[in-house]
Amino acid sequence: MPYQNCRTGCIVLKNADFGESDRIITLYSPDIGRFAAIAKGAKRSQKRFVNKLEEFSLLDISYRPAKHNRLHFLSEAELKEAFISLRTNWQRYCAAILANELVLRFTGEHDPDRRIFSLLHWLLESLHNGSSPLPTVVFFHLHLLNACGYRPKLEHCAICSCLPDKNRGPSFTLQPGNGTLICSRCSGNAGRSRFALSLQSLKFLQTAQGMTVKKMHRLQMPENIASECLSVLYNYSKYLLQCDIHSWSFFSQLTKKGRGL
Ligand SMILES: [Zn+2]
Repeated sequence: MPYQNCRTGCIVLKNADFGESDRIITLYSPDIGRFAAIAKGAKRSQKRFVNKLEEFSLLDISYRPAKHNRLHFLSEAELKEAFISLRTNWQRYCAAILANELVLRFTGEHDPDRRIFSLLHWLLESLHNGSSPLPTVVFFHLHLLNACGYRPKLEHCAICSCLPDKNRGPSFTLQPGNGTLICSRCSGNAGRSRFALSLQSLKFLQTAQGMTVKKMHRLQMPENIASECLSVLYNYSKYLLQCDIHSWSFFSQLTKKGRGL
């Protein structure tokens, strides 16, 4: 029985040349999750695919499902939104490419989650419309971890249950092994680590965890706080993934820490 063409909406996570004339596109769809498709003749085609398969593009595609290998066959692509400014504005590009890499690394193939698609779409649209990259990525990263089952538990110390409180003094550290907080009295270590969170950062992360994307614009996050939150989320994710996140090296230049300030 011949394979039928299927349709879905999706976002381009990554593209790569393949052979002399083809391209392999990695996409995220609310129906299929992350998947790869081959676009035959895409390097030469002036009709079907030109300027459509770039990173961050929102597409409606027609494809034939994979038969014996893991690559679907991309038949047509209709560009719904190019988010052009994400490719022309360096700060927006660094934020968007980090988000794409996080989705690539945290999601499995053919494991769809509509929350992840909506979250990535929201991030691309927000950056394109001028939202500040640092708090936007903090919010995205935190909610992506939640969707993937790695929500950090930031309410209180996992051992003594003490709450983050400016009058009580202990500092807090995220334990990457189980995503819980531990206070300096329980850990016996008041020193700084790459998982240490100031009281202010903890409060922002707690607030962001309880917010929906529609209300996120209400969250005012100073740059130094956003930098600290991002640094801890990056180190936590690196621990979970057991590999580096390559686009962090670009993105971290946007933070105060990355600029050596
Ligand atoms: Zn404690």
